[in-house]
Amino acid sequence: MSLLPIVTLPDEKTLRQQSQPVASVDADVRRLWDDMLETMYHAPGIGLAAIQIGVPRRLLVIDLAKDGEERKPLFVANPEITWASQTANDYEEGCLSIPEFYEMVTRPAEIRLRYLDREGEPRELHANGLLATCLQHEIDHLNGVLFIDHISRMKRERVIKKFQKAQKLGKL
Ligand code: ZN
Repeated sequence: MSLLPIVTLPDEKTLRQQSQPVASVDADVRRLWDDMLETMYHAPGIGLAAIQIGVPRRLLVIDLAKDGEERKPLFVANPEITWASQTANDYEEGCLSIPEFYEMVTRPAEIRLRYLDREGEPRELHANGLLATCLQHEIDHLNGVLFIDHISRMKRERVIKKFQKAQKLGKL
């Protein structure tokens, strides 16, 4: 396994890409998932999409285990949300691609998901709470959407400018 650099703002050229489905879950996909997982644990974070390491494939890793708890990685390929609840949930979200910025985001509280697991088997999952939020956040990445797209335009422009300025000053 290896640690990979995480793509951050202001690199919207990468982060805004539309990721493509994988044809199948093979050894290359599993190797990529392992590298993504190690990179995510090291960051640390609870979810990572392949595009965040610059690979435009519809692949995610998620692990909501808290410090000291047993790790429970979830490997997701080609996810599709097949149902979302009318009821919503607010969570303060962050993103490894937008370091040190957190904001409240409202999303459906529950979702149903279809995806391929680590063996390439089709699976269905009913998610609520933090898992539902995390899955929606990560699936957004596969469509080039960032959590700051769900907040006010003023706040979004301010945070993008902050990262552009930091890059100009050589602080990224
Ligand atoms: Zn993110």
